[in-house]
Amino acid sequence: MPIHEEHLIRPENLKTHEDLVIDGIDVSGHWSTFIESRVVTDYNEALEEEIAALPGGEFIHRCWQCGSCTNSCTVNAINPDFNPRYWIYLIRVGMESELLRDKDIIWQCVSCNKCTYACPRDVVPEGVMKATAHWLELKGHTPKSPSMLFDEEFSEQVIETGKIEEGRIIRGFFKRTGQPLMQDWLVEMAKRLVAKLPVTLLVKMGLASVLRPRTSGWSGARDAIQEYVDEKQAEQRKALRLDELVEIAKQEVKPGQQAAAE
Ligand code: SF4
Ligand code: SF4
Repeated sequence: MPIHEEHLIRPENLKTHEDLVIDGIDVSGHWSTFIESRVVTDYNEALEEEIAALPGGEFIHRCWQCGSCTNSCTVNAINPDFNPRYWIYLIRVGMESELLRDKDIIWQCVSCNKCTYACPRDVVPEGVMKATAHWLELKGHTPKSPSMLFDEEFSEQVIETGKIEEGRIIRGFFKRTGQPLMQDWLVEMAKRLVAKLPVTLLVKMGLASVLRPRTSGWSGARDAIQEYVDEKQAEQRKALRLDELVEIAKQEVKPGQQAAAE
């Protein structure tokens, strides 16, 4: 299906002849602007299945390209290159290299879900954006985003202890993102907490931060949740062929490089 959205045409694919006469008619300049055909040879036929295997991407197959998601999108209103409808199209036809050209803006989805409410086919485009950002990270096309690192820290702590301890989560998040613990806004927040909260509560918070309390009898639940998480991650790795790709990458290492690495 052709796409006639001018901003989707890459500038390098627009060709203009400065001096051109066709059948005696001067069509130089603007009148001789042509769109160069694209030739795509590196389709990923499994791309839709890979996105559908990640949380949020399950209903991508329902899309009928009406564009309501993009029309209602908060981010598209300020950046026309942010185009959920177009990315869903690329995923469904397997144009991975074209999708990768926008890899640095797909994460910008703010999860407002306006697209989800506008979608007539219950595709849940917000979920598809999340799944696509996750896919980019799992495939190594983009580094882990701060929100992904926060989710990992949060989930690991909850699974381990059955409790949420904000101080530990903030410390763990800062460590993962390479941020210093002493930050002006954090110091200011701590000062205000000390000024406003009862002493007993502050002592409890301090102890919780040091002693790392756990929900009693949590070990059974922890093991069951961890088993479920491992199972889901294994399914995702299989759907995205991650282990297979690692093996291919290893085999592609030249003998000289391999010897140097050993
Ligand atoms: S959830 Fe994301 S894709 Fe959907 S409208 Fe909001 S910013 Fe756009
Ligand atoms: S609104 Fe739904 S059906 Fe329409 S293009 Fe977006 S995802 Fe597809």
